[in-house]
Amino acid sequence: MKQIQFEYKSKDLLLHDVRRVKQWCQQNISSAVSFEIYSELLDKSAINAICTAIRTEMPQAVYSGCTTNGNIMFGELSMNNVCIVCTVFEYADTRVEVMQRSITAENAAQVGAEAVEFVNNNSWVKSVEMLITIRGLSTTEISRELSKMRKNVKLFGGGAFASDIDEQQAYVFSSDGECSNNSIVFRFIGGDNIHIQTWQISGWKTLGMQHTVTKADGRVLYELDGQPAFDVYYKYLNIENDRNFFRNSLEFPLIYKNGDSTILRAPTGSTPEGALIMTADIPRGTKVRMGYGDPETILRTVHTGGDEIAKFQPQMIHIYSCAARRYFWGDMANTETKPFQSVAQTSGFYTSGEFLRRDTELIQHNVTLVVGAFREGDVILGMENDVDMQGFHISKQVSLISRLANFIDISTAELEEANRKLEKMAITDGLTGLLNRMKIQDDIIEHIEKEKDNTALIMIDIDDFKLVNDTYGHDEGDDVLRALAGVMNDKIAQMGINAKAGRWGGEEFMICIIGDDAVKAKDLAESIRIGFNEISFKDAGRQTISAGVTLQKQGDTAESMCIRADDALYLGKRNGKNKVVVL
Ligand code: GH3
Ligand code: MG
Ligand code: MG
Repeated sequence: MKQIQFEYKSKDLLLHDVRRVKQWCQQNISSAVSFEIYSELLDKSAINAICTAIRTEMPQAVYSGCTTNGNIMFGELSMNNVCIVCTVFEYADTRVEVMQRSITAENAAQVGAEAVEFVNNNSWVKSVEMLITIRGLSTTEISRELSKMRKNVKLFGGGAFASDIDEQQAYVFSSDGECSNNSIVFRFIGGDNIHIQTWQISGWKTLGMQHTVTKADGRVLYELDGQPAFDVYYKYLNIENDRNFFRNSLEFPLIYKNGDSTILRAPTGSTPEGALIMTADIPRGTKVRMGYGDPETILRTVHTGGDEIAKFQPQMIHIYSCAARRYFWGDMANTETKPFQSVAQTSGFYTSGEFLRRDTELIQHNVTLVVGAFREGDVILGMENDVDMQGFHISKQVSLISRLANFIDISTAELEEANRKLEKMAITDGLTGLLNRMKIQDDIIEHIEKEKDNTALIMIDIDDFKLVNDTYGHDEGDDVLRALAGVMNDKIAQMGINAKAGRWGGEEFMICIIGDDAVKAKDLAESIRIGFNEISFKDAGRQTISAGVTLQKQGDTAESMCIRADDALYLGKRNGKNKVVVL
């Protein structure tokens, strides 16, 4: 393939350039011709003029484009507002087609299904690039639908944007549709001899404490740790909930895991109540942390990623990089894009949201850099090509930020570890490792009175334990207590019962069984009684327990159930011990 990248200066100059391409195509072997047009300006008339020129001069060519937060040409941020990239494919069977559809929250699934159907009916398709107007839309639905695409198809792209980061409008356009502020454009590329690979470069690392999403609805993230989600941005970064929120929070996305992949997602806005508006759904229960860009990590990933891309020997690279990255680097934005130009002709744009399919699932990210690399024909053996990282080093100031952030990260990790240990200690019985009295009691109240779960209780007491202590000593007594706790845990696990076990005090224990397993309470108590009696202690020999079992009845409180379990246990003791009694 051959590529010409040019800046749009005027209609006349454009016509001249397009005619040169046309002439070149007539004199050389060419199959498909594709134009990509990137405009920082929301200038429909300039966009339409370009589209018309291409359509008139080269009706056989396809074109697609969008408005952007910056255009990348030859691996660098272009100083020009409008850039055009023309790719001429040379292998006879290489094909490029474009599909444009208007997209709303209501028809997103249907549009996705149509693209999937096209790909599934056209076996030549090897990759799909998408340009989408993303504002006001949750990308969850369209991403879910597009994930159903044939597995061997690469899928990536970016959200249209504008040079002004606070601008809500953005356009996409193509040879299949008008310039539109609510559309998606799919660019299908394929053929036997074209090869496409995708990569993702992040370099953003987590910073500070972990938070849990406690309230969310679709793409609105209401609460983190029970507090308005916005509070995290105010508390840790001193970012106000005002009209500059988006601009100020852009570089600090939330980072979380989805299976094996790490997702970075920046809020696009905040509500007066302190909810965050995201570009895709973050489900309740998700554990998130704030993220920050670490320049050293970024350059390392560009280097290693770049070398891998170089091995693929691409002839053309498309970059979809988040506007937040441009914002983060300031006037050093080329630092992470320029190295790709040493591998192949590199073009692209700064996006509002990047898309990349991993395995089968299409995920929308923020703050990442997605790379699509294209090659026509086979790899040429013996042709080594490394990414050139010469001249890319980090200033002292940036390096200081990196070290301070590392300091915060490690300190947070140490604090979290210390907290985890403290939390565990606060709820654990030191001798047996079971839950302590306070915790098991809280859990019983939680399940019976708050969650309204069906439950059963087993109260266990070692028979004539005082004798063990008096005869064989306190240490032997402790061994017996630990052994009983072990039997309790083993039997619960063996029977696969959903239960919590705690030490009630002295030589008394309590098990709370939750849900449908409650009916198995008696069997569990019996198997613990038998299992414990099978142990022969060094000095104390065989010991026995008594157990009181009770199943939840209508109107029960935690207290009434505990009293009944205790009564059942008392009956067991009175009737000769080594017994399970159900009340
Ligand atoms: P019963 O069969 O009626 O339950 O008689 P028992 O001897 O087991 O009951 P009692 O309540 O008279 O004695 C309980 C003993 O448990 C008294 C106390 O010394 C002992 N004990 C309580 N906590 C511990 C402990 O942590 N370690 C040891 N070794 N003994 C403990
Ligand atoms: Mg007792
Ligand atoms: Mg006892």
